[in-house]
Order: sequence, then C-alpha cells, then structure tokens
Amino acid sequence: MARTDAIVLGAGIVGVSVALHLVKRGLAVTLIDRGEPGRGTSYGNAGIIEANTLFPVAFPGSLRSLLRIALKWAPEASYHASFLARVMPWLLAFRRNSSPERLIATMRAMRPLFSRALAEHEALAAEARGERYLRHTGWLKVYRSDRSFAGTTPERTLATELGMPVRVMDLDAARALEPALAPVFRHAVFWEEAASVTNPLALTRAYAARFAALGGVTITGDARSLHRVGTRWRVETAQGPIDAEAAVVTLGPWAPDLLRQLGIYLPLAVKRGYHRHFGPRGNASLARPVLDADNGYCLAPMEQGIRITTGAEFAARDAAPTPVQFNRVLPAARDLFPLGDAVEDQPWIGARPCFADSRPVIGRAAGQGGLWLAYGHGHWGLTLGPVTGRLIAEMMTGAIPFCDPAPYGAERFAGA
Ligand SMILES: Cc1cc2nc3c(=O)[nH]c(=O)nc-3n(C[C@H](O)[C@H](O)[C@H](O)COP(=O)(O)OP(=O)(O)OC[C@H]3O[C@@H](n4cnc5c(N)ncnc54)[C@H](O)[C@@H]3O)c2cc1C
Repeated sequence: MARTDAIVLGAGIVGVSVALHLVKRGLAVTLIDRGEPGRGTSYGNAGIIEANTLFPVAFPGSLRSLLRIALKWAPEASYHASFLARVMPWLLAFRRNSSPERLIATMRAMRPLFSRALAEHEALAAEARGERYLRHTGWLKVYRSDRSFAGTTPERTLATELGMPVRVMDLDAARALEPALAPVFRHAVFWEEAASVTNPLALTRAYAARFAALGGVTITGDARSLHRVGTRWRVETAQGPIDAEAAVVTLGPWAPDLLRQLGIYLPLAVKRGYHRHFGPRGNASLARPVLDADNGYCLAPMEQGIRITTGAEFAARDAAPTPVQFNRVLPAARDLFPLGDAVEDQPWIGARPCFADSRPVIGRAAGQGGLWLAYGHGHWGLTLGPVTGRLIAEMMTGAIPFCDPAPYGAERFAGA
C-alpha cells in the first residue's frame, strides 16, 4: 500500500489547483479522479475569470421576473417541476441572501478571493506554460433594454468607488470593440479587468501537467471509497489503496456523494447549465466573451468555436438533460452574432455546485481530523480555482493564509 502526505479527491480546476499548490509546498500529493482531469464541470464553462465581479447572481427581485421564470418564459432560468419541492429550502435561503444588504455582505466576503483570482491564474499559467490560454481582453455585457441597463447602476457605482475600471458604452463604442455584433442592443458595459480562457480543459490539463512535473501523482479511483484507517485516510484506486494524513474533497457537484457517507451534510444545490459550440459565419469573430444580459446567455469565443453557455436550470444533478433554455436563447444569439453551424450534435451539460450564500466552502471538515473541503464554487469555480488552491494549501501547511478564511468555513452552516 502506498503512502502519501495528502490525497486530493476530484481533478477539476479546483482539485488540480489545490494539488499543485500542495506539491509546490513540498508535500507528496496524490490526485484522484474517476475520469480524466478537467472533464467535469470545469470542462464546459464560459471561460471567464471574473476578477472584477462584485455581486453574485441573485434571486429575481421583481414579481415580473419571477413570473416569467415560473411560466418558463425566461431564458436565464428554468426548472424541473418535480424537483422544486426538494430544492425549495435552498431557494428560500438563496432568496434571503439576495437582499441588497446581503449582496453587499457577500461582495465583502468574496472580495479577498476575487481580488487575487487573476494574479493566481497568471502565476500558475506562467509556470505551467499555459499563458497562451489566457486572454486579457475584458468582458463585454450588452443590454437590449433601458430597464436592464438601469439595473446595473448599483454595481457600477460600487465598482467606481472601489477604483475598478468599468466603461459604459453606447452601441457604436461597443461595436467598435466587437464589430461582428449586430445593432440589436442599446447599451453595453465593458469590464476591462476581466480575463478569459480560450480552452478551459487545456488550461486544467496544463496545471495538471505542472503538478506531475513537480512529482505529483494522478491516479484513477473512486473518491467514495475514502475511509478512515486509524488516524489516516485511505482511498482505493486502480493502483491499490493509498493512505495519507490529509484528504481534500474537491469533487464539485459530486462532493455530497462522499460527504454524506461520512455524516457531513452541507446544503449544496446544483444549477445545471448547457453549452454548445458554433462556427462563425464568414470572417466574423469575437475577441472576448459577451453576455447578452436580457437573454441570459454568454457568447464565449473558444478554440472549438463560439461557445454559447446558458443560465441556471434547477433539476436533479443526474436527471436527463433538458436543454430547453438552450433552444430558447439560440434565436437571440443568432440575432446578435452571425453564427454558422453547430460543432456538436447535442449540447454539453454541467452542474454548478452552489451554496445559497454564493460562497464556496474552503477549510476543515468539523469533527473529521485531516479532512479538508474545497468545493461549492458555483458560478465562479474557474475564476477561483487557483486562489482556492493557494488558500487551502496555506491553511494545511500551517502558513499564514493570505486572507481570513473564516467567511468560507463550513461552520457557517452549523444548525442550518
Ligand atoms: C454553463 C456553465 C458556465 C460557467 N461559466 C463560468 C465562468 O465563465 N467562469 C467561472 O469562473 N465559472 C464558470 N462556471 C462554473 C465553473 O465551471 C465551476 O464552478 C467549476 O468548474 C467547478 O470546478 P470543480 O473543480 O469544483 O468541479 P468539477 O470540475 O466538476 O470537478 C470535480 C471532479 O470530481 C470528479 N469526480 C466526481 N465524482 C467522483 C468520484 N466518485 N470519484 C472520483 N472522482 C470523482 C469528476 O470527474 C470531476 O473531474 C460555469 C459553469 C457552467 C455549468
């Protein structure tokens, strides 16, 4: 049986970043996944490194928006009716966390992570020779209605107070930036400091290759086999059992499958999302991701084509895909940008692992010595993978963490 210092369970962007940060600090690390690193949720995101994000996605603030979602007219959110009762406690908590005061509190709690998110990606990308996948061209959000644009005022005002560059643009200025966009919108907001990734899978693979180059070991195994043997943790793998003092759960939306076996119940829900790539028509191109705010989808230029990503679908994680939202947004996307043929036959589906307070859990598992948690990054897992890796590696090795980890502790759910 092999021994190591730490076992990292789940090789998405979060697990790979955690493993890499641990190995950089001199630990012997084994990274376990049942499949190929980066093929889970981390495969299919919109590739945006949202260093400038202030407010999380919030529960609909008006009866009108709620009604549109309930009637399944809204492109930004959908649901399986049979799932609503199960997810209701989470939705109510999400609603409580969406008051203006709580959004500000979330912003404050998350700022330390966001403000280092891009620098941590840049550092890992530089050592992993993955810089070619990073694009420093910002994020353009376009608004078709005056009403939706007006809704951005609080966030823009706050951004300006915090000294973040944000540029309001009219149609012509936005089209000077992205000439292929059709004049179907009225306003745009350009978040200059956002970066993006041209191939999220390739970036995760580059970080995994760097982990291997530093002596890290990646093995196929089922994380659900994790169990205690004396004071150590053991996991069964394709190469036999592996033991370690410490284990880190980075299983994204699958974390509850393991944690419930250990008696740990944290209120995670998933927001499913879809993507599909399209070729551009003619010479049309995009230099950066574009959010069509009124229609709730992103156009993200990737190596594979223009990736259209959808908003939230509330349904059981493993229920069969129902890409109705995708079909709802496609005509709007075709209006905005000259899309050609689809690259794949069917949309990809993934599940964002979300806590109702829009914060991940990063820290110790209470009552389980040597067990650490780093999951629940919701809409921001690509953004926050490397900074999470740094924070938890600092905590695990007894270094002074670069920020106070208290807001991300699992203890916040005690008694929930
Ligand atoms: C449509 C969409 C768009 C998004 N856009 C963005 C964006 O633009 N920017 C951003 O920052 N975030 C975005 N996100 C969110 C982001 O993709 C996720 O938060 C992030 O990928 C989560 O990473 P993770 O490493 O925690 O989980 P995952 O990538 O899911 O990794 C978990 C790993 O665990 C493995 N695993 C599961 N069960 C087992 C088991 N039993 N044994 C062994 N291994 C197991 C899986 O194979 C997987 O590799 C988006 C998400 C979606 C769905």
